[in-house]
Amino acid sequence: MKLLVTGGAGYIGSIVGRQLVDAGHEVVVLDNLERGHRQAVGADMRLVQGDLRDPDAPRSVLAEGFAGVLHFAAFALVGESVEHPERYYRTNVVGTLNLLEAMRETGAARLVFSSTCAVYGEPDEVPIPETVETRPTNPYGASKLAVDRMISDFSRAHGLSAVSLRYFNVAGASHGLGEDHEPETHLIPNVLRAAMGVNPVVKIFGTDYPTRDGTAVRDYIHIDDLSAAHLLALDHTRAGEHQIFNLGNGSGFSVREVIAAAGEVTGIDIPTEEAPRRPGDPPMLVAAGDRIRAELGWKPEKPSVAGMVADAWKFAQAHPHGYSG
Ligand code: UDP
Repeated sequence: MKLLVTGGAGYIGSIVGRQLVDAGHEVVVLDNLERGHRQAVGADMRLVQGDLRDPDAPRSVLAEGFAGVLHFAAFALVGESVEHPERYYRTNVVGTLNLLEAMRETGAARLVFSSTCAVYGEPDEVPIPETVETRPTNPYGASKLAVDRMISDFSRAHGLSAVSLRYFNVAGASHGLGEDHEPETHLIPNVLRAAMGVNPVVKIFGTDYPTRDGTAVRDYIHIDDLSAAHLLALDHTRAGEHQIFNLGNGSGFSVREVIAAAGEVTGIDIPTEEAPRRPGDPPMLVAAGDRIRAELGWKPEKPSVAGMVADAWKFAQAHPHGYSG
């Protein structure tokens, strides 16, 4: 299939793009390179530099004719979204509206959307099923939920075939591609920066959560397993339907457990510092993964957190200051 990958120069988009090309698809990347990296786009993909906030950007590239779109381009930092909600609504919501209208105009029928467990906020039920009430606690989650609702409405009204994957915590690296954010806010890259001495310590945000060791628990999923779910989702789209799946392994690891795993993988005693909770961080986010396993036949091949850290460690050592460093 000829596919457009928005945000294909970012961490997740670049690795899904790689898997799509390896599976025989033709990939065009649309990215504004504001937070993405030109070096992350393979030589066997075409990069179009363009911004979804400009309605002409998706319209002109989609006019070539595409079978579908995998939509990653977005802002994705909870803290930033609290301080600058307008950025999140403009880029994530308005940007996606421009994309959906361009898809409709040009007949691109399939969509796989990068949604998030942040749409659930602090749910009453953990592991979290797709049926739990959505109550986002920050503008990032609210903006992604608004997009999910928009996609449902476009599917009903205009026959769009769509799948939203609500990611839990994506980790690891693949094909020499990995996580390079500035600022870096994610746990595993920050733990590895502390291991390499790039950062002096890794802060443990919150040690008084109602969890087994007082630190927050997350469901980490390997980027290769997450990417594989996108290829399955693409094949399972159904005309006029918007299917939503949570995408995680279904098991939780605390911040301290992740740091301990990184200590074993790297052989380094990683310096830590206890710090207050980060605003907006729920105590525990773990996916109920039954629906995606049953309906898409997805199954994680790399559920080990140590394995995710080991792959991230290889990438971090090859790129201690990121792609451009
Ligand atoms: N965290 C931490 N130190 C860091 C980065 C993150 O203690 O340097 C914690 C964070 O508070 C959360 C967990 O690690 O409880 C996962 O955070 P991350 O930012 O990786 O993902 P999130 O769950 O926020 O999407």
